[in-house]
Amino acid sequence: LSEQKIVMEEIVMNEKNPSIAIDGPAGSGKSTVARLVAKKLGFVYVDTGAMYRTVGLYCAENSIDLENMDEVKKALQKVNIELKYDEGVQHIYLNGEDVSSAIRVQRIAEYASKVAAIGVVREKLVEMQRNIAENGNVVMDGRDIGTNVIPNAKAKIYLDASVDVRTERRCHELEEKGVSFDKNVIREEIIERDNFDKNRKINPLTIAEDATIIDTSYMTIEEVENKITKLFMGEVE
Ligand code: C5P
Repeated sequence: LSEQKIVMEEIVMNEKNPSIAIDGPAGSGKSTVARLVAKKLGFVYVDTGAMYRTVGLYCAENSIDLENMDEVKKALQKVNIELKYDEGVQHIYLNGEDVSSAIRVQRIAEYASKVAAIGVVREKLVEMQRNIAENGNVVMDGRDIGTNVIPNAKAKIYLDASVDVRTERRCHELEEKGVSFDKNVIREEIIERDNFDKNRKINPLTIAEDATIIDTSYMTIEEVENKITKLFMGEVE
């Protein structure tokens, strides 16, 4: 009976707040298209990577030993994360401070990937993410959204692109920011972080059985956006 109840609750939730789950490796274009799709449908865009980055930032700033679980648990109790929206743009706050820009550096991406492999960290953030999804229509992107956070999402997308294309995109972003870089180093960082995310024990990056894979390597942002919107509307090509 309880199992039946859970299934019913899931169905009701799905009908009440149909959502879109987008997963994929770094640089596959998730955040760009997720933001646009959310805007088009009037949904809330939730960037879950930013949440892991924020925990990573706290741990980096406070020299938390990530091998020491007691220390990690204590640190987590001191981490208060809030998401706020300014004209549809997500801002993330760590203990009251807007850290949206501070989390966008390579060192913090690496920290994020490390803290994301720790069970207690994932438990805390997944709970927050599920609460958000239960309270409204979302386009949520990350690594385990379709497989774990909102397995009953109405549309599940796995975005991918070749390593070369993802490297080019990342370099282009850095160029625009005026940051100097070595392309080979960027390429290696992308490969390393993906391998770590795909091979960790808890909720690794995998393709959900019922996900639609979209290779964005040779697609425009608009094409990807339209394809996802059509999948959500049930107008599958
Ligand atoms: O997407 P972004 O590059 O901001 O994510 C940073 C890191 O956070 C990823 O490399 C991954 O380790 C972790 N992450 C995760 N699960 C999510 C979102 C991000 O493990 N749902």
